Amino acid sequence: MASIVEMVDNYERFRRDVLSLQASENFICSHVKMALGTDLGGRYSHVMPDGRNAYGGTDMIEGIFRESEKNVKTLYGAKYAEIRPLGGHIAAEISLLSTIDKNDTIMAIGEEHGGYTGYMNDYLPAMLSFKTELIPFSDQKQEIDYDALEKKVLEIKPKVMVLGQSFVVKHYDLARVREICDRTGSKLLYDGSHVMGLIAGKKFQPDALKYSDILFGSTHKTFFGPQGGIILTNDPDLNDRIKGNVVWKTMDNYHPNRIAALGIAAQDLITFGESYAGWVTSNSYTLARTLNDSGIAVNNSPWYTESHQILLSKDNFGKYGDFRTISTKLGNNRLIADAEGRIGTAEITRIGLTDMVSLGEVVADAIKGKDVRSRVTEILRSTNVKFCR
Ligand SMILES: *Cc1c(COP(=O)(O)O)cnc(C)c1O
Repeated sequence: MASIVEMVDNYERFRRDVLSLQASENFICSHVKMALGTDLGGRYSHVMPDGRNAYGGTDMIEGIFRESEKNVKTLYGAKYAEIRPLGGHIAAEISLLSTIDKNDTIMAIGEEHGGYTGYMNDYLPAMLSFKTELIPFSDQKQEIDYDALEKKVLEIKPKVMVLGQSFVVKHYDLARVREICDRTGSKLLYDGSHVMGLIAGKKFQPDALKYSDILFGSTHKTFFGPQGGIILTNDPDLNDRIKGNVVWKTMDNYHPNRIAALGIAAQDLITFGESYAGWVTSNSYTLARTLNDSGIAVNNSPWYTESHQILLSKDNFGKYGDFRTISTKLGNNRLIADAEGRIGTAEITRIGLTDMVSLGEVVADAIKGKDVRSRVTEILRSTNVKFCR
């Protein structure tokens, strides 16, 4: 049995030889990794309610924290940022704790329409004693049914409306949802977990913070990593409540190495975000069109997608197997994609791939059962990491 050190070494080698099309992941630049691997990863810094730090040797850690927080605020043009959450889920939990009371009702998009499972009644609602009602949503159009939503909101008067999906290919009409929420005084939360990097690059839902009370999400899907979560708001009262729901409620230590890495990644997004997000969205469209033209059915023809995600159609099941089978076939060819029918373009864009027609043909052939390993090797040879300082 290999030691874990050897196993990790092997894993790193494995990763160098695969092409990742996973929609909810990203890789981290070497200077972001560097921060994760420092002494900071074994430390605490904890400013107590009275303002004094409970630990020693913390001055530089606090300096790094302030810089990282500043970068995140700059990136989104936000007045306030909470950068400690350990993931998008914890960011959601903190945001909800800051906006609802026990027995309140919220609205969210159902998981059958690509909404996040955490908002379904068995999960966060069961744990925090609230209830979720579903936002009317059309799969056909990949759109909220705004008229039906308005009716339902007036009837239910939800305390909070959470937008955002794990399967996300289209913007919302946020101005319209804001108007609806204002009729009942409902708070509007935007869970941008999948698209935080694209929002930062102003290429997907650039008005997310403008129209919502809180924008939150993961820092490792389209954002440049490391794994974590952030919460943004322009409302001072909400900010106070958010800050009060972190330490000793949803978490304690925030992992200072991760905060340093986050600040570095945020700086890269400040520098490269717009160019990155532009390439991601154009790559998604061309890759989707190529797959569809090659006989792999993609949802939402002819526009396909406005994000980093491509949603494969269940119409493929008869010919090519279910999403699990498709993921396995891709994996056998060193192409990594999830078993949910999503193809993502964040990573391939960051390694500089722009020829989505060639890539699409390779992916399509793999799904059809061909051996494309040598073609994948050839593509990997042409890559060149971009958008890292
Ligand atoms: C991934 C995801 C989350 C959870 O994020 P983690 O960073 O994995 O905790 C929450 N909401 C949505 C919409 C997601 O896609």
